[in-house]
Amino acid sequence: MVEGYVSAVIDLPFARSKLVSADRIIPYLRRIDASRWYSNNGPLCVSFQERLATFWGLKAESVALTTNATVGITLALNAHGIKPGLRCLMPSWTFVASAAAVTAAHLLPSFVDVLPDTWCPDPDHLEQLAKEPDVGAILIVVPFGAPVDLSVWDALAARVGKPVIIDAAAAFDTLRHDGPMPVPACTTVVSLHATKVFGVGEGGVVLSRDTELAERVRLLTRFGFNGGREAMCPGGNAKLSEYTAAVGLAGLDEWSDTRADWLNTGALYHQALPQPIRDTLWMGPSWATSTLSLRWPGRASTLASALASKGIGSVAWWGQGCHAQKAYAGSRAEPLPVTTQLGQSVLGLPFMRDMSTQDVERVSAVLIEEWAKTCTD
Ligand SMILES: *Cc1c(COP(=O)(O)O)cnc(C)c1O
Repeated sequence: MVEGYVSAVIDLPFARSKLVSADRIIPYLRRIDASRWYSNNGPLCVSFQERLATFWGLKAESVALTTNATVGITLALNAHGIKPGLRCLMPSWTFVASAAAVTAAHLLPSFVDVLPDTWCPDPDHLEQLAKEPDVGAILIVVPFGAPVDLSVWDALAARVGKPVIIDAAAAFDTLRHDGPMPVPACTTVVSLHATKVFGVGEGGVVLSRDTELAERVRLLTRFGFNGGREAMCPGGNAKLSEYTAAVGLAGLDEWSDTRADWLNTGALYHQALPQPIRDTLWMGPSWATSTLSLRWPGRASTLASALASKGIGSVAWWGQGCHAQKAYAGSRAEPLPVTTQLGQSVLGLPFMRDMSTQDVERVSAVLIEEWAKTCTD
């Protein structure tokens, strides 16, 4: 569970995940009983990989399943063969897992600021910085799953000749084959964590149109074994088990209903709020999200306290940015004025797929009241 701003008694939490029910999973579990195949790319993982590939409009060989997205990002960086000790340019404005994944790949996070409208770095600035010889890679984050033009990053990778990895952890739906953000040429990683829009508990997926690259990632998830028992490279163990694949397959069976639920909660907020507040919401009609952050004109902490006093939870999903956290305080960083501003003003509201109209209206009432105060102060 993520720690939010909690002081008063909270009876409306900021998140309450709801994954596919046990009843829906059981038929798949029975297949595991019958096959007695529990891990190591069993039939359910094969099927899950194929169905995910179809969902994103890719070949099955372009998909590599991993234990979670944090490990997926590390393995994606490893698969690109970047020399240890080099810097990885990345936004500070992301979940701390991004920086942890870079560090685990033996690279040094080197933080850059983001643009206020896209919450992504400025490509021209990155191009300048990426020319430094001690820069080995670039990590771009798709902010909370919102569609961004990923072709910009494909072009940057080609220009600077260094790998760009896309942390698209929250973009499961945004990347769908007929969605608003096609899978780019750059290696891309999606999370299947319980808090994400399509959750299986713990799980991650690395996507690469370069099937050899995807195969290198798969090799790294299974000790470097390539059919035999000789390690071809020093890989670890990051395989998904058949049990997780069972949850994933059952979840995909009902994905269209799950997606409709998420979009419905977004629509309820849309209906409950006046235009100026609506404009601050980080969501859109063409992509399903499991989090709803808003960019508040005042201080997020003031709004959080007002919500808490009414028993409503909220969360600063990305805190003040990675550079503000103890583990990364010593990391190299460009000036980060926008990140600092976002850290002070962005707040995650209660958002769940089965949220009632009453609960949405309860949150909205506080927003409307606080908006009036903030905008007359
Ligand atoms: C959720 C998230 C991750 C981590 O994904 P896991 O599957 O939990 O490891 C990484 N980056 C971002 C931006 C995320 O939102």
